[in-house]
Amino acid sequence: MSLREIKKFKDPILRKKSKKIWRIDEEIHRLALDMAETMKEKQGVGLAAPQVGILKRLIIVEIDYKTRKSVALINPKVIKKSREKSVYTEGCLSFPEIFFEIKRAKAVTVRAQDVSGNKVEVKAEGLLARTLQHEIDHLNGILFFDRLPILKRIKLRLNAEKSF
Ligand code: ZN
Repeated sequence: MSLREIKKFKDPILRKKSKKIWRIDEEIHRLALDMAETMKEKQGVGLAAPQVGILKRLIIVEIDYKTRKSVALINPKVIKKSREKSVYTEGCLSFPEIFFEIKRAKAVTVRAQDVSGNKVEVKAEGLLARTLQHEIDHLNGILFFDRLPILKRIKLRLNAEKSF
C-alpha cells in the first residue's frame, strides 16, 4: 500500500466525470487499498478516485468511526433518497480547511459493487448518507459548494481568486 497525492482546488480533474469500472482487477484492488490508507492518513471520512487523479467510479467511505473501518464501493449509484433534508457542516480533502453548511437528503440507499464484484446495497442516514452523496458527486465532477444556494455561490465566486 502507498499513499496517493490528493488533487486540490482548481485541479481540472475534479471537474471531470469518472468512467464506469467494467473489470475489477488487481489495479482496482490496489487503488482501493491506497485510497483507504490515504483517507485515514488525512483524517477523512470519504474519498473518491478522481481526488487521487483516477477517473474511475470508485469511492471509499468510513463506516465505523470508532474502528475507522472503511469500505470501497464500485460504480455506486443513489437509488433512493429521502425527501427529508438535513443541513450540516461539510469539508472535503481536496479543499482543506474550507467548510460549508450543505443541505442534503437525510437518508439514501446506494447500490454498488464491492471489491469482489458482489452487488451490495447500502442504506444510510446521518453522516454516512451525507458522505455517500458527497463522494458520488465527485464521480460526476460535482463539488460540495455546488450544492450551496445560488446567492452564496455568487459571493463565493467573487472571493474565489483569493482562495481557490
Ligand atoms: Zn470531497
